[in-house]
Amino acid sequence: MPQWKGHPIAATAAGYEARARASRADYSFHQIITDPTPDVLEREVPALVARGIRSLKVFLTYDPLRLTDGQFLEVLATARRLGAFVTVHCENYDAIGWRIRALLEAGLTDPLQHAWARPPVVEREATHRAIALAELVDQPIQVFHVSCDEAAEEIARARARGVKVWGETCPQYLTLSTDDLAKPDFEGAKVVCSPALRAPGESERIWARIREGTLDVVSSDHCGFSFATAKRDPGSSGYGQGGAKARPDGMPAFNAIPNGVPGIETRLPVLFSEGVSTGRIDLPTFVRLTSTNAARLFGLAGRKGTLAPGADADLVLWNPDAERALTNSDLHHAIDYTPWEGMRLKGLPTMTIRRGEIAVRDGQVLAEPGSGRFLARGPYALATPSGRVPDGFDAAARR
Ligand SMILES: [Zn+2]
Repeated sequence: MPQWKGHPIAATAAGYEARARASRADYSFHQIITDPTPDVLEREVPALVARGIRSLKVFLTYDPLRLTDGQFLEVLATARRLGAFVTVHCENYDAIGWRIRALLEAGLTDPLQHAWARPPVVEREATHRAIALAELVDQPIQVFHVSCDEAAEEIARARARGVKVWGETCPQYLTLSTDDLAKPDFEGAKVVCSPALRAPGESERIWARIREGTLDVVSSDHCGFSFATAKRDPGSSGYGQGGAKARPDGMPAFNAIPNGVPGIETRLPVLFSEGVSTGRIDLPTFVRLTSTNAARLFGLAGRKGTLAPGADADLVLWNPDAERALTNSDLHHAIDYTPWEGMRLKGLPTMTIRRGEIAVRDGQVLAEPGSGRFLARGPYALATPSGRVPDGFDAAARR
């Protein structure tokens, strides 16, 4: 759920919660904090946590979303006092703005230049900084959507010295590259997302970081914008850092293309096909990446992500031999394309069971709208501090 700068959390939360009540899947929320005023930190966030919304997301870039380092520290300290978990989008805002201005001045406006505006070093710096600040506060964090090896390396180094930091990545960083951003006829706009897609070959290094355990969740980061409309509309983006500009051909310059790819329905089949069917990961790793670890990290261990007495009977039956070409018309989202159009999938789900009831069978959705339940999350050990602060002076505990 977003918060918009200048507005309280409550201005957007009720609308999101109303939409979620129509869900067929069980659900919870990460609360995005963009404007950590004293009222937000001392009144609104504690009230959210008390209602079971126990994870916060912050952005270190994007004009309407980003926090300064000082604001980020205040959010970390608040989370620590409340026993909440913090997730972070790590890119350096000023470095990106500087690159955008130079690219536009040079007349370089194609979708590919979205990647040039935010190369791996920009992500690595912010990842290092986010971890360092979380270490200062002694607050556990997860780095969201890691796209490159050098950012993953920062996470691995911190974990090796005992910092409570985890890393998440997405199918787009495991399967797509700047070759997709460079496609002609503005098709590259379809895969404009942040962090940006990386050079061909980088994804194999992300697979390796999964196998070593540095990246232990694969989520969709689903954020769909239709290609026929929003992705080609210079006025549609709320993210137009550096001054959104239209090009002579009427298309948006790279910095005005809305950021995000649709991927919620394709996440599991693409990961299974490219991961398990190719032998890059084994089946238990697939289950951990998609279910068990997320449940553990976000306070749902023992209830979700496991098959055991007392846990919800959620499971997916998979046919590892089934094959199909992925095409957008088979998907249930409201977006007019998928980045994986035409991809040959090997291994497909045949049945989805939610709390013991069949929710989807052979592509047919059986669960009723509104049958999904909100998952309130209580305190849990993973989100508690490690007990290590510089000089033994615990600044976050003194508020
Ligand atoms: Zn993000």
